Amino acid sequence: MSERLFLAVALTDEIRHGLAAFLGERTIRLPGRPTPPDNWHLTLRFLGSAEALQRDRVLEFLDEHLVVGPFTLGFVGLGAFPKPSRATVLWLGVGRGTDEVTAMAAVGEEAAISTGFAPEDRPFHPHLTLSRIRPPTNVAGLVEQVGPFPLKMEVDRLTVYRSHLSREGARYENVDEVLL
Ligand code: ATP
Ligand code: MG
Repeated sequence: MSERLFLAVALTDEIRHGLAAFLGERTIRLPGRPTPPDNWHLTLRFLGSAEALQRDRVLEFLDEHLVVGPFTLGFVGLGAFPKPSRATVLWLGVGRGTDEVTAMAAVGEEAAISTGFAPEDRPFHPHLTLSRIRPPTNVAGLVEQVGPFPLKMEVDRLTVYRSHLSREGARYENVDEVLL
């Protein structure tokens, strides 16, 4: 039985509530299909379909090679992929802790490759997806209007999520953690 997996930094409830309040106080109406706060996370490496044995091997690799220690994660303001004038993804950017998150993603990439997943061809850009937008929309005004999100959190683990897709949207299940 295969499962849909990805590696991520989980957010604390404090950050979820704080960010929801931050957006709410600014009466920001997110364009497109907003991601539910319960689903907010920072993806490190999307693995896709994996067998249980493969998940075990990814975990073993991470246990052995993840040398990033606990760190503080901070955020900046909004941004968009591929660009604000034609956005399909609206996100919150990472400030403090970018180096550590990038190092975690690099180990995630090595773990993926060494356990038989195809290499990621896109450069890593840490972000928290707030909304998915179709058709592409100009969000430049919104991106400029919103300042940095001020809360910080301590990161002390990498989380392995199983993703369940359905018509009601995605649901993520925490299936394992690797402590930093
Ligand atoms: P939905 O696909 O229903 O919109 P979702 O994208 O949140 O929901 P998944 O597709 O399971 O759920 O993705 C889980 C996480 O992995 C998300 O952060 C998503 O952006 C990221 N992701 C999914 N596919 C890829 C991919 N091919 N490359 C990089 N990241 C991906
Ligand atoms: Mg998806």
